[in-house]
Amino acid sequence: MRLCWFDDGRLGVVREGQVFDVTRVLDGLRTDTYPFISGDPVISHLEELRPVIEDVARSAPAQPISQTRFLSPVARPTKIIGTPANYLKHVEEAEAQSEVFTRRYVGSVLEQGLFLKAVSALVGPSQGVRLRFPDRRTDHEMELGVIIGRKASQIDEAEALDHVAGYAIALDMVVRGPEDRSFRKSIDTYAVLGPWLVTADEIPDPGNLEFSLSVGGKIRQHSNTRFMILSVARQIAWASRFYTLWPGDIIMTGTCEGVAQVHPGDVMHCFIERVGEMEVRVF
Ligand code: MN
Repeated sequence: MRLCWFDDGRLGVVREGQVFDVTRVLDGLRTDTYPFISGDPVISHLEELRPVIEDVARSAPAQPISQTRFLSPVARPTKIIGTPANYLKHVEEAEAQSEVFTRRYVGSVLEQGLFLKAVSALVGPSQGVRLRFPDRRTDHEMELGVIIGRKASQIDEAEALDHVAGYAIALDMVVRGPEDRSFRKSIDTYAVLGPWLVTADEIPDPGNLEFSLSVGGKIRQHSNTRFMILSVARQIAWASRFYTLWPGDIIMTGTCEGVAQVHPGDVMHCFIERVGEMEVRVF
């Protein structure tokens, strides 16, 4: 199933080029009960909601994808986890340009560990990326986004994928420079997720997906998730050793080589096999 939030906050199912409005399945869904930290309410109830969504979608109003403004497919993550330096060729390009990339971090993800991005940075593709410091270099980092579906704490790698709700395209935008990574990657709009969540049953192996990013018709990033240094399952297990993962939590699983600067007016075209594609404008 492909699940999305769209337009002014409608819940949708995407199928055969159309978005079916299933917002009414949310009637009666309890939200905002203390202690407020049990994760995204739709993702945490997805298993029981799914048959209801399927049923409602059969008679729901629909509109074409091309006329739909996609928001982030996760509305309320408790955290966005970033996996740095997770493709060898990206590690090499960063090490070769230490004047652009910070010297604060060396080695691969295995030495650096994971990092966090503020959830206030999260947007969907229709909202675009707004450059906050036009005099500094802002780069795209094209990544597979993993959305946690079940509470996970101190879990093993072997059971990690059972805790995934689905996958989406992620852009881990960043201002290059010397400061701490989370500071430079948490700017408003610098975490893009979209265009929809593809449920995990449609992607049995997240470790073999082609992906690419192009700007102005020129391919800048193109790789396959099989080149990850730390697999999706190992990332989830490792993150869960440090903090409880809640439904809706997002992992941006690392970027491949080819990260490059964006300018106002650019449109980033992003593609991941089995997930889909999206366009994101830079303002
Ligand atoms: Mn990244």
